[in-house]
Amino acid sequence: MKKILVIVFILSALAFTVSCAEEKCTEHLFSDWNVKTAPTCIDTGLDTRECEKCGFFEERTVDIVDHSFDEWYADDVLPGIFIGHERRDCKFCDLYETKFEEVKTKLGVVYLTRTENTLESQGMNSRQGGCYNGSNYYQAFIAEDESSSFIAKNNIKTGEVIFSEPRAMGHANDMTYIPELNQVLVCDSETKVFFYDADTLEFIKECELSKNIGAISYNAHNNTYTGYGNSKDKTIYILDENFNFIGQFPMKETMKTAQGICSDATYVYSLYTPFVDGRHECHIIIHDYNGNYIATLNLSLSNGYEAENLSIIDGQFYIAVCTPNPFVTLNSVVPYPS
Ligand SMILES: [Zn+2]
Ligand SMILES: [Zn+2]
Repeated sequence: MKKILVIVFILSALAFTVSCAEEKCTEHLFSDWNVKTAPTCIDTGLDTRECEKCGFFEERTVDIVDHSFDEWYADDVLPGIFIGHERRDCKFCDLYETKFEEVKTKLGVVYLTRTENTLESQGMNSRQGGCYNGSNYYQAFIAEDESSSFIAKNNIKTGEVIFSEPRAMGHANDMTYIPELNQVLVCDSETKVFFYDADTLEFIKECELSKNIGAISYNAHNNTYTGYGNSKDKTIYILDENFNFIGQFPMKETMKTAQGICSDATYVYSLYTPFVDGRHECHIIIHDYNGNYIATLNLSLSNGYEAENLSIIDGQFYIAVCTPNPFVTLNSVVPYPS
């Protein structure tokens, strides 16, 4: 075995010497550069050329180039709000661009259902996070001192409402539904998330995050979460299914703490309720996943009540609005006037 290795070594040393000698062709006559690997927006390319006289071989790396987009295609996000919305994706990386003829920024709401806190005697009247999954509307209620909270599930077809056992979940600022698990998740607005069975509201587990997350949304299209920092950390984070932070971008428009967040395959939607001229306004701020600010939608809530959470189902927004205790209403969002 050793002998064979030695012979191989001698042979390859000879081959090297030969090409070395050939390299000393006094003036190489090179062919044109040939593209061996074309550069992309994420990888350098490689060109090669050869001397026609001695076969001497050269390589050069080629710098990364600009993004290379596929064709524009109709991307039917939020029909009725975005008109003529299109998207095109880079062939090589996650970057994409969108364009649209018009965005309806003035929106109103249409009442769908309401949830009553019939456990009011427990003093958990403050309405916070919630989510709607197309069948059930989930709403978190918390004690003013945040010592305890519970969630309610409202089956919007039958009107049946059930409640979870109470549990301390901080501000319980946002919720999201995870179809793969058939679970809902409550985010405490700090570093904890709590999982519940979406049918029975049985508590399943809690997880600890490495950063504060004020609002969270599950992205079924790629099994990730989108999270919003908090009033001090105006960053949108992308988390994998195990809550590892895998991406982030700063909010371009930073007003007040997000009440809630939701997302689809194209955009991240943050819900804000700034206090303007003595009343709550209700804004949905849209960014794409590359961190570009897209638009701000203004919702007219005629009664001036505060919106607390936002969901998106099949291109339609649903928003929960606090009405006087012990009620909270779920509404669909429509162009205004509808
Ligand atoms: Zn040569
Ligand atoms: Zn690219």
